[in-house]
Formats: sequence, C-alpha cells, structure tokens
Amino acid sequence: MVKTTPRRTLSRRTFLQACGVVAASALVDTSPALAALDGAAAPVKQWFKGNLHMHNQWSDGTPLPDWAIDWYKTHGYHFVCPSDHNIFQSEELRFDGFGFKNPPADLAPFQGETSLWKVISPEAGWPKLTQRQVNETVEKFGADAVRTITVGEQTYVRMTTFGELEQRFAEPGKFLMIPGYEQTGGCTDGRQVHMNFINVREVFPYISGEQPRDILEKTWAKSQECYGGQDYLCTANHPLWRYYDNTAADFIALPQIRLFELNNNGIDGAYDAHPEGWKPEKLWDVVNAYRAAHGQPLLLGMGSDDRHGYEGDASAWSVVRAASLSVKDLLEAIRAGDFYASNGLDFQDIQFDGRCLTVKMDVREEGQYRIEFIGTKKDYDPTSRVIEVEKGPRCPARKIDIYSDSIGVVLDTVEGTEGAYTLKPDDLYVRAKIVKVTENLKPDWQSRPAAWTQPYC
Ligand SMILES: [Zn+2]
Ligand SMILES: [Zn+2]
Repeated sequence: MVKTTPRRTLSRRTFLQACGVVAASALVDTSPALAALDGAAAPVKQWFKGNLHMHNQWSDGTPLPDWAIDWYKTHGYHFVCPSDHNIFQSEELRFDGFGFKNPPADLAPFQGETSLWKVISPEAGWPKLTQRQVNETVEKFGADAVRTITVGEQTYVRMTTFGELEQRFAEPGKFLMIPGYEQTGGCTDGRQVHMNFINVREVFPYISGEQPRDILEKTWAKSQECYGGQDYLCTANHPLWRYYDNTAADFIALPQIRLFELNNNGIDGAYDAHPEGWKPEKLWDVVNAYRAAHGQPLLLGMGSDDRHGYEGDASAWSVVRAASLSVKDLLEAIRAGDFYASNGLDFQDIQFDGRCLTVKMDVREEGQYRIEFIGTKKDYDPTSRVIEVEKGPRCPARKIDIYSDSIGVVLDTVEGTEGAYTLKPDDLYVRAKIVKVTENLKPDWQSRPAAWTQPYC
C-alpha cells in the first residue's frame, strides 16, 4: 500500500513551491542542483516527519501497541518504525520476550491463537503491563481493541501484530508504518550496544562481546548475512547511553556504520556524563573529521525519541525529504543524507551544491533564531588524551577519550533564519545547526529547540 507521487515535468517555480520554498527566494534560485531540474522530469519532494525508534508493550514500552501508534499518527508524524527490543511483531504465538517470561499453566485456551500474549501485572515496573494500559486502550478504541484470555489467576493480553497495526493505522500518502526492531546487545561490564534495523521482519539472536566495538561490528556483519540484498537501514543507537558505550574511535574503526543517533532525547539525563567527556555532537564531529580527511562517507545523524513512557511531548525526531511517503523513497533519502534531526525546529530548505551549504528555517513561532555553521579544519589535531574514570555506583571503570577543541568548531554564525556557508579550501566538511536563542540554551545535543542538518563535504 504505497502511494507514489507521479513524476512530472516541473518548472523551477513549481518545484520550489512543492518544497515549501518561497518562490522569490534568491537563496535557492542560485542552486545548480535545482537549475538542473528545469525542464527535466523530476519527482516532487516533500518533507516527512518520522520516528524510527520507539517502544510499546511488545517489549518494555508502557502503552499497548495500538495506543502508541495512534499517538504518533495523531501528533503530526508521517512515518514510524515500532522498534521493540529483540522482537518483531509477528503472528508467532509467544509468552515471553525482552525481560519477561510468562508461559501459561495451560496452553489449551491458546489453541489456534497467534501473536505475543503478556500477563497483566498487579504492580507497575519494568517491563510490566498493568490494567491501566489496558484501560487506556479500551477507552480510546473500545473493548474490542483488547483481547484477553484468563488462565487461573493470570489474565493474558494479546499484542496487536505489525500487520494488524498497519491495516488499522497506515494511510497511503498520510501515514506509513515501517517494520523493524532494536537489536539489543551488551558487554559483561554493563555497557550496551543497541542498533535499530529498519525495514526488516526477522530478528537475529542477542549478540554480546567484551567490547562495544566487537558487538557493533558483529551485529552489523550479522545483519549483512541476514538482510543482505534487502532494502534496509541500520542505525547505531544512543552512543552515550549509559556510559560512553560507543565511542568515536569505534565509529572511526567501523566506517560501514553510516547512521547513528545524534539526538536520542529519550535518554536525556539518564547517563553518567563526565564533565570532560564528549557528548554526541562532539562525537559526530570527531568521526566526521576523520572520515572527511580519509575520503570516507560521512556519518549521518538521526533524531529519535526512543519512547518508552509516553508522558509529555516527544523529544526528538527526523524529517526526511523524499519523493513520496513510501519505504523505498524514505530509505533512499535517508541513505543520501537528505534529512535533518530535530527536537523542535524545522528547515524549510537545505541545499548543498558541492561547495555552498544554504539553509532556510521554517519559522513557526516568533523568536530570535541563530544558525551555526559547524565544521573542522584540515589542520585539526586528531589526537586524544585518555582520562581514567573509576567504577561508580552505576557504571564500570572506564577510559574516555578527550578530543581537541579544534574538532567541531563554529565556522560562522548567522543571527537570523536563513544563511549560507561556502566551504573554504581548508575546511573538511560543514554542517548547520539552528537554535532558538534563549537564556538557558544548552550546548550539543541538549540544545532545545534546535535542528541539525547532515554534514556536507
Ligand atoms: Zn536502546
Ligand atoms: Zn530503544
């Protein structure tokens, strides 16, 4: 059920209007990339907002699946990937999953049944299902939306499968569901390596290792073995959580990792940061300085909320510019880096012509805005010094690489909502970040509201 925008011949004006760009704007009128579209058949590209990392009761998210998907659909999202831990929402009859195991004493009542069944727990707690979530779903969708079977003292609730969710919520051109899951692995010392696989329906077993880098490498290799030839994406999730789990050195050693979560504000505050330690935006620059200097494809940064509980607003998302709201076009655009990460601001246009990065904000609220063009010079200092951190109450003893201030510098600042930066001969790459200027503006990924383009070189 994919709606494809028909290809048609466009004038530049029509193209700009379709992109949401002000037609009179000299900003994009000068772009050779756009000029090349004059008179040529080209798809109309649009921005689509989505989240490729979220949880529900299929693993350790709070709400039942229908409630969770409905939340995104009714909050302005165009696409989602329900990415539960180490499980795909298939028809297979199951009673256990990530952090829970509840086989019924008597299987007879489940004869002919399908999907995952989870027990209603009398008390709340990770990763339990309580009567409250059942009630919330019934309130929203009616009693028929929740199926239960009681065996002895235990009441089992059936999880809606991906196929059923898709049938209920997907609407061509309006809302798209992409299958996937979060492959969750870890080290013996407690560091965690989580990777999302997008547009897959098969899960492979938990991978552990001594070092996060081993797990990253093995997990990526396993995905190639399992999904090779398929149109899928792999993202390295929340590198900082819980304690510098995936380092810049890991991503430098593994150039095959192309996507990572720059902004996973679902874990904001839930990590043990060292005052001198890197944060995700710095990690991004360390990796891309190296990759740009060595002619490798740059690491692209995604925004995700990684929602488990659903109180309050969503905290980060990705906005993709694609020819249509189809899996094929979205994945192609993400792979090409035609998307931005956001936790509250939007771009109306982003153009890179090979030398000049031009951005224009989509201003939705009055305020003072700033554009920072960030990059690294060719003569940067690639060395790092190591600080040793003792074992803490929550984290293992660790070594943290501290990098030079010459990596990830502000190359230019524009006070306003549109601006451009032309790469200098000594620049390795450039990316743009837009922020709303407030008294409490935080640095790095915690800047909010903000949005980040991909890096260009
Ligand atoms: Zn995770
Ligand atoms: Zn997650």
